[in-house]
Amino acid sequence: MKRVRTRFAPSPTGFQHIGGFRTALYAWLYARKKKGDFILRIEDTDQERKVEGAVRYILESMEWLGLDIDEGPDHADLQSLGDYWEGAPALGGKKGSYVQTRRAKTGRYKEVAEKLIQMGVAYRCDLTAEELAKLREQQEARGEAPGYAGHSRDRNVSADTEHVVRLRIPDHFVIQMDDAVRGKVSWENPPLRDPVLLKSDGLPTYHLACIVDDHDMEITHVMRSEEWLPSAPIHLFLYDQLGWERPVFCHLSQILAPDGKKLSKRNGAHSLDVYRNEGFLPEALLNAIALIGWSPGEAAGDKELFSRDDLIEHFSLERLGKSGGIYDPQKLEWFNGMYMRALSVEKFTEAVMPFFQKAGVSLSADHWDPVAAHVQERCRVLSDAVSMTSFIFQDEFERDFEVFQKKKLDPQEVSTVLNAVASALESLDEFTPDQVQASMKSVVSECNCKPAQVFIPVRIAVTGSMNTPPLGESIVAVGKGRAVSRIRDTAQQLGSASCAAH
Ligand code: GLU
Repeated sequence: MKRVRTRFAPSPTGFQHIGGFRTALYAWLYARKKKGDFILRIEDTDQERKVEGAVRYILESMEWLGLDIDEGPDHADLQSLGDYWEGAPALGGKKGSYVQTRRAKTGRYKEVAEKLIQMGVAYRCDLTAEELAKLREQQEARGEAPGYAGHSRDRNVSADTEHVVRLRIPDHFVIQMDDAVRGKVSWENPPLRDPVLLKSDGLPTYHLACIVDDHDMEITHVMRSEEWLPSAPIHLFLYDQLGWERPVFCHLSQILAPDGKKLSKRNGAHSLDVYRNEGFLPEALLNAIALIGWSPGEAAGDKELFSRDDLIEHFSLERLGKSGGIYDPQKLEWFNGMYMRALSVEKFTEAVMPFFQKAGVSLSADHWDPVAAHVQERCRVLSDAVSMTSFIFQDEFERDFEVFQKKKLDPQEVSTVLNAVASALESLDEFTPDQVQASMKSVVSECNCKPAQVFIPVRIAVTGSMNTPPLGESIVAVGKGRAVSRIRDTAQQLGSASCAAH
């Protein structure tokens, strides 16, 4: 049995959304499952569309997701891409370079193109862009479908003139394959117009570079999205003509948004950075992405939470779906909640601290510890921890006084109760959630009022809103001095406002 080698072959033309990373995940899972190799190859032959930082983004995202790479760009590769940074992982490998523009320098693509010309499978074409445009106009004027119509097929263009190399698609072109996802797929005269293999600048196009690299890198399984299916006949034909063994193709079904349309930036697909900055855990994202278009099968029962290792254990090509898989942002949030709550409080604290740092907040243990577990219970994403606790590190905030009206609490009475609570808290020698709670209860009985008449005003005075961690813990997190002065200030504000109203 051949050693399994899979690859993720992104083009650095933008910032991939979850679709790209799903392809990477499946390729990675299959390699890990089969104890093979997972390779990252950068397909940068379209130099005009190259986006700076795209490769760094891919490498950092893969690392964040925990998808380790066995072979991939080394530092010299990254430098040539203009995407090197200090601390970049040093990959490399025995089949390098892993960047196509650098591989082009070895002359390998040209060599294969020449071979194809000699075999009569490809030919040179020296038509300029203007000439091609003119031919297209003429086709249109004649009512024909525009496209290259084999003008140079029999012209014997000299290698010394500027030219491209085109593939000679057979006049009657029938080809088929066994796709691991789609089963038997066959084509009869697909609408292909002698595609370019080698450009006039000597760089290969995607078709040539992809098959040469997959062959030379001994890739056994090609996972890629369904949108590449129309290119497959070109690739299959090239493999066959060159006498190379075809890899197993797995054309992954497209990802749909909840509205049933193709997932795109417009209907919910974000680059990974967005999820990361909002505070999704990589485990949640991996879990959610894995289940778009793959189902674990009966052995897994109704299990929904799959760690990286679980995914490796259960993954199989047979269970990749043929029809479009739905990406559901709500499900991702659900996964995130599950993974966040499964963390120990220490690990959760570690995970949220960078979000505080980013917000310029340094939160000491005195302020954070009393509420940590409660915040963990309530967060949707990690960054919520910052907004949920802003009352602890910020003294200036709006108070939702409308709550008093809604709860039919009289401002003058609220003011009196608040002053009583302030005094009770001031006299505490120990300031723990239990003590705080007990002293508020004693105010309830002293003032002979209902608990809500004390707890609601205190919560608004200390935290500003009703939507915060439990009151005792919140007050302790704010600290005695600041809590008491917030309560007194609010009492005064309400007292004077109600005097003015009388
Ligand atoms: N470079 C192609 C892309 O950007 C890869 C296609 C393939 O995997 O063959 O998606």
